[in-house]
Amino acid sequence: MNTIDQFNFEGKKALIRVDFNVPLDENYNITDDNRIQGALPTINKILKDGGSVILMSHLGRPKDGPTEKYSLKHIVSHLSQALKVQVQFADDCIGSQAVEKAAALKPGEVLLLENLRFYKEEEKGDEAFAEKLSKLGDVYVNDAFGTAHRAHASTAVIAKFFPGAKYFGYLMAGELNNAEKILNHAEKPFTAIMGGAKVSDKILLIEKLLEKVDNLLIGGGMAYTFAKAQGGNIGKSLVEEDKLELALNLIEKAKAKGVNLVLPIDSTIADKFSNDASTDTANNDDIKDGWMGLDIGPLAINQFKDVISSSKTILWNGPMGVFEMEKFEAGTKSVALAVVEATKKGAFSLIGGGDSAAAVAKFGLEDEVSYVSTGGGALLEYMEGKELPGVKAIND
Ligand code: AMP
Repeated sequence: MNTIDQFNFEGKKALIRVDFNVPLDENYNITDDNRIQGALPTINKILKDGGSVILMSHLGRPKDGPTEKYSLKHIVSHLSQALKVQVQFADDCIGSQAVEKAAALKPGEVLLLENLRFYKEEEKGDEAFAEKLSKLGDVYVNDAFGTAHRAHASTAVIAKFFPGAKYFGYLMAGELNNAEKILNHAEKPFTAIMGGAKVSDKILLIEKLLEKVDNLLIGGGMAYTFAKAQGGNIGKSLVEEDKLELALNLIEKAKAKGVNLVLPIDSTIADKFSNDASTDTANNDDIKDGWMGLDIGPLAINQFKDVISSSKTILWNGPMGVFEMEKFEAGTKSVALAVVEATKKGAFSLIGGGDSAAAVAKFGLEDEVSYVSTGGGALLEYMEGKELPGVKAIND
């Protein structure tokens, strides 16, 4: 793997694609700076070598060009404090100001460019736009795993303008190494825990995992499609009617491959989708009309805990229930704690990004698992076996 460790950046200008798509409150304070923290090791290595750094990122989803709300200028002071370097800012990612500021950059200095997505060319993967960006630096570094599954100008297309001078940053390399470890070097028993709203988002991953895992635990909203497919009454629970047959196929496939597929026995049910709902517990094949399953139930928690505690490798993607509401967080929290316990006993645990990462962070357990991925969609696609454009562009 071509990582920044293979290069001495002394006297060079490194153009780094980072993922600084951080959440901001109404006063533009950063409410979670994990993504900034994640990029610091790469930036610091380059500065320490005696190089200078030009950072490019997107922030949010601006629709019509420059928008105050999505300006990266809001993160300059936070980033400067984190790096202990006064970060300079160019209020356009291309154009004369960016060119002049990049050209004037001295070793040890850092320049942040304005939001790439103020240009629609970024998401279109426009080659002329990528070429303009490429002129700003001598070496290209990609450290934005969260957008590696997109063939955008700054994440993939730009790499062709840096033959022999393109590298993975530490965050990206760490993500790829951990995903690789799970996919190809998992110590057994290997357990995958899948949850979240829909089966349809995760079919490809489930199929791929059936080739690899010993245990597959399915919780969250997607479990009710399986329960209904097997003839259960699921009340008003989330269901994908067009995926019932697929659910039965997956059950059959698991059997044929000798995978222990565990579906939750029971659920915490509610009479409405709200934290003030009345709640009860019910078996998953016997949910009252008008009620819905919003979390795995106490029996299911024990079923899942038993399997998790004897696992040596754990991949978790998707919450077990509507963990954002206190009444329905118990399943997700119990699973998180079981993963932490297994990790303490020596298991390797990887938490997929997105909602599972948010859940682990909500319970303050992010430092007690082996690795929390920063990539939601990117991790899913990588695990499905797809070649990520951002990875391919560096490897080519
Ligand atoms: P995903 O993005 O597919 O991982 O789905 C995550 C979302 O699924 C979270 O916002 C959860 O609140 C939601 N979710 C989990 N379990 C359920 C459920 N039983 N019913 C409805 N939504 C759920």
